[in-house]
Amino acid sequence: MTVVHSAVGSVEPVIVVHGGAGTVSPELREAAPAGAKKAAELGQRVLLDGGSCEDAVIAAIRSMEDDPTFNAGRGSCMTRDGEFEVDAALMRSIDLRAGAIAGVKNLRDGILVAQKVMNETRHCLLAGDAAEAFARAHGVGSFGRDEVWTEKAQRRFDDATAGKTARDNRADTVGAVALDRHGHMASGGSTGGVLLKLPGRVGDTPMIGSGLYAHPQLGASAATGVGEAIMTYVMSYEVLRRARDGELQAHAEALCAEVQRATRAAVGLICVSPDGEIGIAHGSQHMSWAHARGDSPVAFGLTWPPAAD
Ligand code: ASP
Repeated sequence: MTVVHSAVGSVEPVIVVHGGAGTVSPELREAAPAGAKKAAELGQRVLLDGGSCEDAVIAAIRSMEDDPTFNAGRGSCMTRDGEFEVDAALMRSIDLRAGAIAGVKNLRDGILVAQKVMNETRHCLLAGDAAEAFARAHGVGSFGRDEVWTEKAQRRFDDATAGKTARDNRADTVGAVALDRHGHMASGGSTGGVLLKLPGRVGDTPMIGSGLYAHPQLGASAATGVGEAIMTYVMSYEVLRRARDGELQAHAEALCAEVQRATRAAVGLICVSPDGEIGIAHGSQHMSWAHARGDSPVAFGLTWPPAAD
């Protein structure tokens, strides 16, 4: 059964993006918030031009998938075997449809394949080689090691493999949530996963309820950080459930703090409520973020709350 929720009136659109919870490498501490800002500006433009929340989320995430700063698309981190396996997902509130892909090799624009799964199948999640075959059959997806490999990822792999740097709590995954002028919401995410993950490991990003959620009465959310912690706390759904009577920001902060305290893992959330309240929180050293409401200038930063100048 398809559930269609039509919102009424004209709503001030909102876009919120994140560039990953964890520790951002010193050389990327300007590039990460700048990349998030650019992504939010692209999403904002879509919304102001009358585009849907789904299109705004796609525009923001595609920008960050192409930006080698981030652990998504071009710039994804490597598995223990030096391969690239990406996860991505998209969900929209209007009909509770979701599409996701998991463990797809050498894919630059996973969010576009997730969108195809949502719009062209009766499923929510396709995995591995079969997801690649699906994408190729639908003429979507840029595949190839050259599409995703970066010097940054090679250096991180080499250093972590040699034990010179930690593999855990690295940041730079990407996500976005949007509220459009019709009051509909969408959320999405794209990631190379966690550094040196076992081949076949799938994180929270393509898991509906954990990595993302969108619901007409509850809002939209996207999580980032260590997927194993996010999944066991079902963070994206849980924050919206707790905030069903309001105080989204307070609930996002409390949930991130609770999960970080319990698991010692870096975690973060971005959210928007049906009436446009924004939530941004992280239990980690950094989480680059950006947001815009209506046509106001995009605000952005490397930590939340923003560090004082
Ligand atoms: N949540 C992602 C994963 O576990 C990684 C991240 O957000 O940094 O695959």
